[in-house]
Amino acid sequence: MILGIDLGGTKSAALVLHEDGVVVRRVAAPTPAHAGAEALFAFLVGLAQQVRGPETLTGVGVSAGAPADAQNGLVFAAPNLPGWGPEGFPLAARLADVLHLPVQLENDADATALAEWRFGAGQGTKNMAFLTVGTGIGSGLILNGALHRGRRGAGGEVGHIAVVTGPEARSCSCGLRGCLEAYASGPSVTRIAQERGWQGEASGRAVVEAARAGDPICRGALAQAAEHLGAGLATLAMLLDLERIVLGTLAVHAADLLLEPIQQSLRARAWPRLTEGLEVVPAALGDRAQDLAALCAFAPSAPAPSAPTNGGTL
Ligand SMILES: [Zn+2]
Repeated sequence: MILGIDLGGTKSAALVLHEDGVVVRRVAAPTPAHAGAEALFAFLVGLAQQVRGPETLTGVGVSAGAPADAQNGLVFAAPNLPGWGPEGFPLAARLADVLHLPVQLENDADATALAEWRFGAGQGTKNMAFLTVGTGIGSGLILNGALHRGRRGAGGEVGHIAVVTGPEARSCSCGLRGCLEAYASGPSVTRIAQERGWQGEASGRAVVEAARAGDPICRGALAQAAEHLGAGLATLAMLLDLERIVLGTLAVHAADLLLEPIQQSLRARAWPRLTEGLEVVPAALGDRAQDLAALCAFAPSAPAPSAPTNGGTL
């Protein structure tokens, strides 16, 4: 069995679960996100000790909602989790010292990509991309049957590919201009709708509901998001020759509004040879995603020999 830790900006959880994804026990608490690295560390240790029971554990998987260097077990400060500091905190080594277990951590987008690949909408592929289209746009790439981390674990920042250039390109929270995230994240879609005169509740979900009800401004903002998402995915398709692209969060809640226009935009911008048979599908794990991401941070593939899982194939 595995001890999983899901570290989030607002809430964190620790859980004991089987290697096949069945959760035995789970505790969760609000994250003291601004309390500093040592306080955050003590909080996570507390959660882990609280959830630990008589089971024999083989290791700890941490899915961190913050930039992470998986090879070196470091987490770095993020806007919603500033406590880790810019130099990085050796979370894996510190947890291993206290819990006396091997620890592997991954950035949550990479860990969720692994979870969707192993248990969800990415099952059966060798080359897939996972994009979460939520507060930000995070992504993880599975290439040739393994997670692609790149030189320092920072690869796959699809949300910050430039999809608009020139003076009209929108500023992005990362400091660049024209990034996909500046057009297609939940807050960006909301802001664009507001700039065009929409006066409803400031949330991505509210924009989606209004678009479904026929509001022309919200429909326009989502259509623009889909257009740019398709452009970003076309770059991925041309570069990586993928089998499947799995889209999470906004693309799951608004699949009826987004998936078809995303695919049209993608097909208009990439060669047919690279888009034929390329599936663009919503993520399948729903609220199990975080738990399974923590598992997959430690156990990215099923232990062999093992019965195949059937966790939510589309
Ligand atoms: Zn950016």
